[in-house]
Amino acid sequence: MISIQELILRYFRTLSILSLRYLVFAGTLFLIFYVWKKRDFFKLKIQQKYPDNKHILREMGYSFLSIAIFSLVGTTMFILRKHGYTQMYLNFSDHSIGYFIFSVIAFILLHDTYFYFTHRFMHWKPIYPYIHKVHHLSVNPTPWAAFAFHPLEAIVEVGIVPIMIFLMPLHPFALLAWVLYQTGMNVLGHLGFELFPSGFTNGFLTKFSNTSTHHNMHHKYVTSNYGLYFNIWDRMLGTNHPEYTEQFEIVKARSKAMESEEERGNTSLQGSALADEAIS
Ligand SMILES: [Zn+2]
Ligand SMILES: [Zn+2]
Repeated sequence: MISIQELILRYFRTLSILSLRYLVFAGTLFLIFYVWKKRDFFKLKIQQKYPDNKHILREMGYSFLSIAIFSLVGTTMFILRKHGYTQMYLNFSDHSIGYFIFSVIAFILLHDTYFYFTHRFMHWKPIYPYIHKVHHLSVNPTPWAAFAFHPLEAIVEVGIVPIMIFLMPLHPFALLAWVLYQTGMNVLGHLGFELFPSGFTNGFLTKFSNTSTHHNMHHKYVTSNYGLYFNIWDRMLGTNHPEYTEQFEIVKARSKAMESEEERGNTSLQGSALADEAIS
């Protein structure tokens, strides 16, 4: 039997780990792209302006609320695992290394599918204003928006975890690998800067990966680009924004033009002037 004290400790432990994960991923990228190297990276900014501080604080507030909810679900999963209701296994030798790799890939692919369809459902007009609109208050998102959800959406988002641990045997390290990949991609999607090279959205394989521009356009235009990790469901169901590739290349071309300017010696003048203008 698990004591109340143990549960409270477990909850705060989960809360600390998940908060730290958010602060490290979102905080590091925010500091680099929005503070320290703001001027250097301005040329890669997808929307050539920065959001007000009040938007950033809202993104952080909702994200921490979501993390508190994720931790509740995490603690509940811990109780269920202790009582043997889940398929989680703790001994690495219970399954092969091949199975371990398969379980991580399956988790990522199933989550991509789960996310696409629950996301589209939350865009359904009768329910959109009550739940998912909170996430779309960020029209020009920053990495802090990664978990900025309405509490009900936070429950939907974390719903993939119980599904997976009831569905197939998973080692905690498989869960950890997914958590790290998920957080990295999620933060990248909300970064607001395009880091992938020109031609990425047309590459033989790379076109199936989503980009920061892809999710940034979802925040800007709302009714297209629903996917999370991969550009598979959006392609299959025709929900990519028609100007996705064009907009991606516009960012790349602008960045190149600004670099040429820099080479001609105008740099910091132009970069700083534009960045300063965008802040004010
Ligand atoms: Zn959405
Ligand atoms: Zn988003």
